[in-house]
Amino acid sequence: MNERTPLGDTTGLWQAVLAAAAGRCQCRGTCGKKHDKDGGRCPAAQGGYARHGTGPVHMLAAPADPDGLLLPAHRAAALPKRELAAWCPACHDATRRRALAARRAAAEPAEPDALF
Ligand SMILES: [Zn+2]
Ligand SMILES: [Zn+2]
Repeated sequence: MNERTPLGDTTGLWQAVLAAAAGRCQCRGTCGKKHDKDGGRCPAAQGGYARHGTGPVHMLAAPADPDGLLLPAHRAAALPKRELAAWCPACHDATRRRALAARRAAAEPAEPDALF
């Protein structure tokens, strides 16, 4: 069930990251939601319920930098605690998708016509 958890939740590091975040998602809008109703920070917390009908939120410890979310799992797992943040799955996935899209956009040639 936890394949997408970059750091297994049995590690002390995961617990340390979650403790530093007070168990709360540290997303400040990189997922595309401003979270402005919640003081600019996502309100999701470990063990909380994101919405009716979903299970308890299981927080992820993952790179704090959106670009870092594109790192392969073994590289992300080697990062020190200060470079990690607590993410709820929704913000983690959305932020990662946005970082990926931004990277693809940057890799595309600005002027495809120049090939001809
Ligand atoms: Zn969140
Ligand atoms: Zn968010």
